[in-house]
Amino acid sequence: MAVNSSMDETRVLVVDDERDIRDGSERILTRLGCHVKKASRGDEALTILTQESVSIVLLDLKMPGMDGMEVLKHLKEMESPPLVIVITGYATVETAIEAMKRGAYDFIAKPFEPDQLRIVVGRAREKLRLTREAERLNQVRQRMLFDLDTEKSRTRTIIESLPNGIVVTNAEGRVVLMNPAFSWQLNLDGQIGTGEHIATYVNDEGFCDLVIDISKGKHSETGDIPTYEFALPDDKYLLARGRPIMGEDRECLGAVVVLSDITAMKVLDRLKSEFVATVSHELRSPLSTIHEQLALVLRDLVGEASTKELHILSRAKEKTEGLISLIGDLLDLSRIETGAVCHEPKPVHLEDLLKSIFDFLGAKAESKGQNLNLDLPKAPLPCLTADPLVLESVFGNLIVNAINYTPDGGEIRVKADVCGQNVRVRVKDTGYGIPEAYLDKVFDKFFRVQNERTRHTTGTGLGLSIVKGFLAGMGGSITVESTPDVGTTFTVMIPVGGSPPSR
Ligand code: ADP
Repeated sequence: MAVNSSMDETRVLVVDDERDIRDGSERILTRLGCHVKKASRGDEALTILTQESVSIVLLDLKMPGMDGMEVLKHLKEMESPPLVIVITGYATVETAIEAMKRGAYDFIAKPFEPDQLRIVVGRAREKLRLTREAERLNQVRQRMLFDLDTEKSRTRTIIESLPNGIVVTNAEGRVVLMNPAFSWQLNLDGQIGTGEHIATYVNDEGFCDLVIDISKGKHSETGDIPTYEFALPDDKYLLARGRPIMGEDRECLGAVVVLSDITAMKVLDRLKSEFVATVSHELRSPLSTIHEQLALVLRDLVGEASTKELHILSRAKEKTEGLISLIGDLLDLSRIETGAVCHEPKPVHLEDLLKSIFDFLGAKAESKGQNLNLDLPKAPLPCLTADPLVLESVFGNLIVNAINYTPDGGEIRVKADVCGQNVRVRVKDTGYGIPEAYLDKVFDKFFRVQNERTRHTTGTGLGLSIVKGFLAGMGGSITVESTPDVGTTFTVMIPVGGSPPSR
C-alpha cells in the first residue's frame, strides 16, 4: 500500500533480540520516512515507551527474558497504546493469531523481505492516519454541536429575557413555545406548560381567532395581518401582532405572536379624549351664541350695511358654523372612544328618521341642482333600538358627503331594505368617486382625498371615522364601493336585534 508522502514522521520502535532484524528494519523504515528506535529486550522496550511517544511497535514475540506476549500485555494497559505489529518466528501462525487476539494490530513472519515490511508498516501508518482523521472529524462535530447548543441556548435566553410576551403555536393552534413575559402578562399559572390549545391560555375569542387564522396560513402575506387589541380583567391592555411561520415549501407551520403592554398608551389616550371632550364642550356654547348673534345682526342689518360689511359678517357666520360642526365631530369621536355610543337607546323608525334628514338636507341638494331620492320598501322596516342622535349623525354624514362630492345636477339615491337579520341602507351617488387606493383609508381619522375636485369642499376628515365608530358600537358595519367619475355607494348594515352592550 502506498504511504502518503505528506504523512507526519511516524515514530516506530523495533523490539527484537536479533540485531540483524533491528538494523535491517531501521534501514528500511528510515527510508520510508519513519523515526526509528530500537530495543533488544522487552523491559528495555517498556522503558522507552514510558519516556517517548511511539505510534508503531514492531515486536518480536520470542525474546529471552520478558517475551513479546508479556510486553503486549503491558502495552494494553497504556493510556493510548501504540499499534503493535508482531514478528513471529518461522511460520508460527497460531502464535500470531493469539497475539492479534490480545490486541496486536498485524503480524509479519520471519524471515521477511523489505517489501513485506514496507507493506505491513504502510498499512499500520494508514490505519493511524485514518484514526487521526476520525478523531479530528469527531472533534469538529463536537465543536459544531457545542456551537449549535450555545446558539440555541443564547436564542432561548434572549427570548426568555424579552419584556414582550411571545407565544408560538403550531398549525393546529397549539402552543409550542411561550416566554415568561407571556405567562406574566396573562397572569397564567406558573405550572401551566406548553402543548395545549391557545384558548386554554388566553380567554379572549378575538385573540384566539386571530392566532388560529395565522397558524392555519390564512395570512400568508405578512402585510395584510391585522393587529388585535384586547383588555384583561385587571384593566391591562395588550396589543397582539402575529406572523405566520413558513416552511421550506411555503406551507404554514404555525404562528408567532408578540404581545405588547399598551396600558399606559390607553390611559394617555383616554386622558386626551377627556381633554378634547371637555374643551369642545366648553367651546360649543359660546360659539353657538356667537353664531346666533351673528345671524341676528345679519338679519337686522339687511338694507342698512354695505354689501362688503354684510359679506364679512356672513363669512364670520360660516366660519362659526364650521367650528361648531368640528366641535360636534370631536364630541362624537370622544363618545365613540369612551364607548358611550348608545347614550339613550329607544325604538327608532328608520323611515321617519331618513325622511326628516331628507327634509333638512333637501335645500342643500336643491342648491346644487341635485336629485335626492329615497327608496323605501312597501312593508315597514323593523323598528331599531338605537340612539336616534347617533343614527342621525350616521346618515346625515353619509348624505352630506354624497351631496358634497357629487357635481351639480348629479343624483343621490338612498335605499333602505331588510337583508337577513339587518336593516340595510345604501347611499349611492353619481359623484367624483374615490380612487381604489383610498377606499379603506377614507374611514381613518382626518383622512381626506386630496385632489382638484375635493379641494373646494371644506371638511375635517372626521365624518366617516365617526360613522364607522358609531356603527361598530351598535354591532353594525359599513362598506364602500366606488368608481372614479361614476359614483360611490356606501352600504350600512344595522342588526335588528339591537346593539350589543357598549364597552
Ligand atoms: P370630510 O367629508 O369632512 O372630508 P369624511 O370622513 O366624511 O370627511 O370623508 C373623508 C373623505 O372621503 C372625504 O374628504 C372625501 O375625499 C371622501 N369621500 C367621502 N364620501 C365621499 C363620496 N360620497 N364620494 C366621494 N368621496 C367621498
